Amino acid sequence: MSVVAYFSMDLALESDIPTYSGGLGVLAGDALRSAADLGLPLVGVSLLYRKGYFHQHLDAAGNQTETDDGWQPAGRLTELPARVTVHIEGREVCLRAWRYCIRGVRGHEIPVFLLDSDLQDNEPTDQGLTDHLYGGDHRYRLAQEVVLGIGGVRLLRALGYVDTTTFHMNEGHSALLALALLQERLGGRPTAHADAADLEAVRQQCVFTTHTPVSAGHDKFPWDLVHHVLGEEHASFLQHTGSPGDRLNMTHLALRCSRYVNAVAMRHAEVSREMFPGQTIHAITNGVHAATWVAPSFQRLYDHHLPDWRLDSSNFRHAVGIPLHEIDLAHVEAKRRLLHEVANRTDQMLTPGTFTIGFARRAAAYKRADLVFTDLERLRRITDHVGPVQFIYSGKAHPQDVGGKDVIRRVFEAHRALRDEIPIVYLEDYDMELGGLVCAGVDLWLNTPEQPLEASGTSGMKAALNGVPSLSVLDGWWIEGHIEGVTGWSIGHSPWEGRSDPAAEADSLYTKLESSIVPAFYGARERYNEVMRSAIAINGSFFNTERMVRQYASSAYALR
Ligand SMILES: *Cc1c(COP(=O)(O)O)cnc(C)c1O
Repeated sequence: MSVVAYFSMDLALESDIPTYSGGLGVLAGDALRSAADLGLPLVGVSLLYRKGYFHQHLDAAGNQTETDDGWQPAGRLTELPARVTVHIEGREVCLRAWRYCIRGVRGHEIPVFLLDSDLQDNEPTDQGLTDHLYGGDHRYRLAQEVVLGIGGVRLLRALGYVDTTTFHMNEGHSALLALALLQERLGGRPTAHADAADLEAVRQQCVFTTHTPVSAGHDKFPWDLVHHVLGEEHASFLQHTGSPGDRLNMTHLALRCSRYVNAVAMRHAEVSREMFPGQTIHAITNGVHAATWVAPSFQRLYDHHLPDWRLDSSNFRHAVGIPLHEIDLAHVEAKRRLLHEVANRTDQMLTPGTFTIGFARRAAAYKRADLVFTDLERLRRITDHVGPVQFIYSGKAHPQDVGGKDVIRRVFEAHRALRDEIPIVYLEDYDMELGGLVCAGVDLWLNTPEQPLEASGTSGMKAALNGVPSLSVLDGWWIEGHIEGVTGWSIGHSPWEGRSDPAAEADSLYTKLESSIVPAFYGARERYNEVMRSAIAINGSFFNTERMVRQYASSAYALR
């Protein structure tokens, strides 16, 4: 049977298997989980990361430090006997793989292969190549991309996946797989001999999803490094044909080598078309895997009212018929669970009756976790005159992201300034487990990215599936999911009305809290619960990976 091979450098299989860093990996895991539910013929390929992403530690001032997140693959995955090799800096590097199995609701299994270079035969430096996710320097990253792209294709062949119809590059990190496919096609002839028909044959096998307009998300490698790591022959082929320009740009390579390209939301497709003129870029809006992200109390509610929701996410449409007080009760339970966990982890006791705002995601500067603290006086006024508010934060900054680390410190500064008036907790070491707890347990999901940098965002979708409405800048998925006062609330102007204006956005944020949201929570709870229910019915029924994967299957993979 022909299969679709899904390649992703970042992949969230389980909360405590540290092969993911954030949204990209969670999306990849959710996509594979839904593909398993749907019984689609996919296989996943990623790296093992023996030392994980990292554990986050925050001191009293919010300074982040990191330690390795080591784990034991042997207890969780099956080691496979197959061995393949790749060439890195002229050395032969031997690779093995570990298999993880994703089982869908109807029992269909999707294997995921994690490549591992920690073998005795390899030089010590090569043994560590699959240790760290997003760690190391340019050389380390490029070597990892050789392992993922080229090693991944060779591994699949060694495992007997010979008639793979589609290679899906989930972000440009895996674009070197095109080089491996070209080599197969050339059957030993040098890559310099590749002609247009050879390139077209590769293109017909590949699909590419671009995930961010942020420049740091697009790997670019200097040519001398590419020559050094990949060797003369491949480097000059890439330089002349794959990605002409001053550096090897993995996004350009992926675009050039793919028959189908998509962005992850409608607006993101527009922005990507501006970034890559002349390129056909479709939009397949992201989603989340419902059964993974729905809290236990809502699982029970849905099992009762929407019995087929695990098999067919369009059932969430019928949430309009769930009595409001039952939604309220399920939410109270999800909130209780979260506040219990907060108390366990931080010794801070939050008040269950207080309006609770959540913000948890990667700490990157453009996401502006601190926008809501622009005017502390205004926040105090809301608390004093409309009703009390408290905040729950979580999120890791990439170890080299100075701006992201600053944002965490600024949230801690707000915490110190507001100490006795507005409680703010910051939960260390954000992972899928915390993501599930926080998205489901707060009363409002806050999202304040700088337009147009949030390609999609998925945490607000997890919140919606748990009846938690968003207050969000109109960017990414929210442009599609927002109906004012029905599924949540917007901040600022639409993305077509000019540049992001932080002062105006902060003002809009406070105005919505002050005049619509907090008054409804304390004074018109039925109204608030109606918004919660519409978030489930309108957004839960669409922003899920079941719908998303069906779109990939019909448009990108051309599966039936
Ligand atoms: C869902 C999730 C994300 C993605 O959040 P965004 O709002 O899309 O940035 C990141 N990290 C973890 C652990 C998640 O569960």
